[in-house]
Amino acid sequence: MLTVDKGIQYLQGAGAKITATRIAILKSLENRRDHPPAERIFMELKFSYPSLSIATVYSTASLLARGSLIRILSIDEKKVYYDPNMEPHGHFMCRKCKRVFDVPFHFEIAAAVKSSEEIASVEDAEIFYYGFCVRCEHP
Ligand SMILES: [Zn+2]
Ligand SMILES: [Zn+2]
Repeated sequence: MLTVDKGIQYLQGAGAKITATRIAILKSLENRRDHPPAERIFMELKFSYPSLSIATVYSTASLLARGSLIRILSIDEKKVYYDPNMEPHGHFMCRKCKRVFDVPFHFEIAAAVKSSEEIASVEDAEIFYYGFCVRCEHP
């Protein structure tokens, strides 16, 4: 799980400057369960950090993803969603409200993948499900 300390350590190691806005991005991603898109992080922080640009959100997040500290979900073609939870799990997106929920990772699928002779081990998967949440299906 991403922590601010781990994030700072990694960004420093990657040669990135540790700025107040980068620390604010780390704080905002830490312990986050709602899979915020880049735009939401930006909107939440821009009032307190007027110098923040959306480019800084994108670049900081992609550095963190390169260090396996967060996931960048390509669950939607229009937006990227961030997830600091690196435990194996899948995702469900509601087609109407666009909320993203965690769903269990099915280890049977990994086992089935591994049954191919070409594949030695399975470490992770990106599994996306789409449908409607209870709030949208039964308003
Ligand atoms: Zn919904
Ligand atoms: Zn997740």
